[in-house]
Amino acid sequence: MDNLSTKTFNNDFVSTFDGDQTGNLQPRQTPGVLYSKAIPTPVHRPQLLAWSDELAEEMGIAQPDQQDINILGGNLVTPTMYPYAACYAGHQFGNWAGQLGDGRAISLGEWPAANGKTYELQLKGAGPTPYSRRGDGRAVLRSSIREYLMSEAMYHLGIPTTRALGLVATGDQVMRDMFYDGRAAYEQGAIVMRVAPSFLRFGNFEMLAARQEIAQLKKLTDWTIDRFYPHLSGENKIINWFKEVVERTATMIIGWLRVGFVHGVMNTDNMSILGLTIDYGPYSFLDDYDPNFTPNTTDLPGRRYAFGRQHTIAYWNLSCLASAIAPLFENTDELVNALEDFKDIYQAKYFAIMADKIGLDELKEEDKKLADDMEKSLSLIKPDMTIFYQLLIDLPLIENKEELANWFNPSFYRAPDKESLEFLFVTIQAYQERMKDNQITAEAAKTKMRANNPRFILRNYLLHQAIQEMEKGQNGLFLKLQEAMKAPYSNIHDEFFALRPDWANDQPGSSTLSCSS
Ligand code: AMP
Ligand code: MG
Repeated sequence: MDNLSTKTFNNDFVSTFDGDQTGNLQPRQTPGVLYSKAIPTPVHRPQLLAWSDELAEEMGIAQPDQQDINILGGNLVTPTMYPYAACYAGHQFGNWAGQLGDGRAISLGEWPAANGKTYELQLKGAGPTPYSRRGDGRAVLRSSIREYLMSEAMYHLGIPTTRALGLVATGDQVMRDMFYDGRAAYEQGAIVMRVAPSFLRFGNFEMLAARQEIAQLKKLTDWTIDRFYPHLSGENKIINWFKEVVERTATMIIGWLRVGFVHGVMNTDNMSILGLTIDYGPYSFLDDYDPNFTPNTTDLPGRRYAFGRQHTIAYWNLSCLASAIAPLFENTDELVNALEDFKDIYQAKYFAIMADKIGLDELKEEDKKLADDMEKSLSLIKPDMTIFYQLLIDLPLIENKEELANWFNPSFYRAPDKESLEFLFVTIQAYQERMKDNQITAEAAKTKMRANNPRFILRNYLLHQAIQEMEKGQNGLFLKLQEAMKAPYSNIHDEFFALRPDWANDQPGSSTLSCSS
């Protein structure tokens, strides 16, 4: 076990690539470099609010002492750390946004762990960097709690994600206009320490391509492959790498679909090159099943980042990445083909996951209609997605519509109309017919369904309540949620197994959120 403050960090990224070493924090364009040195700005009084024991244990990090808490607050940088903000660009809401960069994230270094893995440690909300533009480089308690809990929740759900090691309150106030409507107010500041093998995004590659810094683009690509895709080598390694990024991105989106997660800001600067869920902002789980749902008020009315569009956007974002790396190819046919393969890869994964969710032994060609009809039934009735699938696991033989409506009633936010109920009835009849041919036992099917359908999800209204309590200094609900999210497939936290209450329907912060805070 090492302490954060005594550990010898690696700095492979900064020592490999060109950077701006001046430490100047003035907002500016930084052509020619992949990062800029950015020392965290000290805070008034860092106070530890949460610590992820499981992650710390995996990494071999000791419980934080006062010095470590100073690191978490940005008040201490040890001699082997090299704090920097990465320079990246991106497409935001479909438009080229040029240079963005880590405006409020500062990486401290790479932690080589005894398990052989290396973890990049990053503070989010530790003060301005050259990429802060008009922002203050800070994060509020509200958004930091959301990032901390949700990245850990996604991990326990089995979905590729960046992690969160610690959360500190800064003791400083931060001014925020939560809904960009002129009603700015002070909120408590906080910092999350995030962890990932790397926080590189599609946008890091787009930046170099846009600046036509092709030698650096090639170097970054080679470094990314050598370090994070070490099984790839030989003359086809770049195309094989892109294929794997496509595959990993599809896997991530399917994970989101399986549990009903909406990211909310799938800009290309928020797309991890490792296929991890990254940059938790105005995300939400679905309560009522609605493919058109976007939790992000900035995403209205277009709903570009709505639940049901996430795979389309992933493909669009991958096409930006393909364009960025195109200069590394003499002939881009293979690149175009690899990009187009996303659609088939995603479709195959989609049907496979639907089969798992409804407990089929395998998905045969003729089952595709059943999977689609099941999804269509949910779109029509808009039941609570999580509760619906839980009820499906123990579904008894349904003989008529009344029985059907009664069985699924606990998942309904409103009574289904006649046609929708009819559609569900026909679908469930087909499903029960199909289950008779299942080549696995009923118990095995249930086990499969339990493993693929979470029973506990970190609903926005629960987070909202936990945040309101935490803002008053009470951590009771926060701690309960922190426990519940560790066992999302079990029933041990059934106190949270309930519909979203009416009061939360249109409550700011509990159903909808704004982009960055
Ligand atoms: P996001 O969509 O939240 O991932 O952020 C988009 C861009 O805005 C990134 O370059 C962020 O670093 C930057 N940004 C967001 N919030 C702030 C802030 N409070 N201060 C400085 N930069 C910020
Ligand atoms: Mg971002």
